[in-house]
Amino acid sequence: MKAITVEPKKPGSLRYEDIPEPDVREGSVLVEAIAAAVCGTDVEIAEGKYGWAPPGKTRLVLGHESLGRVIDPGPNSSFKKGDLVSGLVRRPDPVPCPNCAVGESDMCRNGRYTERGIKEIHGYMSERWRIEPEYAIKVDPSLGILGVLLEPTTVIIKALEQVQAVGQRAYWEPKTVLVTGAGPIGLLAAGVASLARIEVHVLDRAETGPKPELVRDLGAMYHSGSVLDLGFEPDVVVECTGAGSVIADSIQKVAAGGVVCLTGVGAGGIAPRATADIAAAAVLKNNVVVGSVNANKRHWYKAGLRLAQMDRKWLSRLITRHEKPENFSQALKRKPGDIKIVIQFSEI
Ligand SMILES: [Zn+2]
Repeated sequence: MKAITVEPKKPGSLRYEDIPEPDVREGSVLVEAIAAAVCGTDVEIAEGKYGWAPPGKTRLVLGHESLGRVIDPGPNSSFKKGDLVSGLVRRPDPVPCPNCAVGESDMCRNGRYTERGIKEIHGYMSERWRIEPEYAIKVDPSLGILGVLLEPTTVIIKALEQVQAVGQRAYWEPKTVLVTGAGPIGLLAAGVASLARIEVHVLDRAETGPKPELVRDLGAMYHSGSVLDLGFEPDVVVECTGAGSVIADSIQKVAAGGVVCLTGVGAGGIAPRATADIAAAAVLKNNVVVGSVNANKRHWYKAGLRLAQMDRKWLSRLITRHEKPENFSQALKRKPGDIKIVIQFSEI
């Protein structure tokens, strides 16, 4: 069968090539790939900046945002042939740490977790893949190809759960949420938040293109420019840019008792303000800055429910390009106006 593979840490090593059929030891459920979505992590791995091949191997099958159709449910799963499924990304560390031991590998304490398509386990960008039944999530068939948006939605569900958990430390009645960054994660965050009774704002650099309209079509408000120039203080900020200045501005701007949840992974930059000034603002307003990454099975389950509640036409506008697997190099290249790129392995 064919798969999109890469030699991690080696730029230019991406290939669409023949590899053996998935080993039964990779899971008792056999799945035919329908689609895999591309995210920033895939691009980083393709550029040789990140990623680890399975032990003893040099190449890694890429892909962690999956949608597939069950071909063979195996002897001990509740799946049926034809079910649409998506696969969890992270697997617990072998020790395991206390969090992995209780099914919270998203909160792994020792960093020895593995991740499909990223860290030491093959991903989902192959014509067929296998999965353990406990790591496969059934996708609402009415979502069709939009089920490929499940993984990024899980990241949002976890982030919002973190915000909620922090909020519970005191009387908590958030009225406004600001999402910074209108990429796929930011737009899905706005989409999920719009399902709740809360005023949703999205801030992004883009002044044109599909993003402003996508936000307005949710009934949310779109802003470009600086967080500091907003005419209100958000109760919650879901930070999806990873940009230093946006993070610092968000911590300064968030309302008293507010929560800033960081989901973007950036690097470097110059400190726009002294750390103690940012900390003083947080102290004097009881603010919390919480980082959130990955998601566990509970978040996957909830994400499936929320995604199925969202408007299909709106969700489909997030997928701005469908590429064939043989066009993998195009699929992994960002172009202006791109939101989510989907590599389609077979018809839905
Ligand atoms: Zn762990």
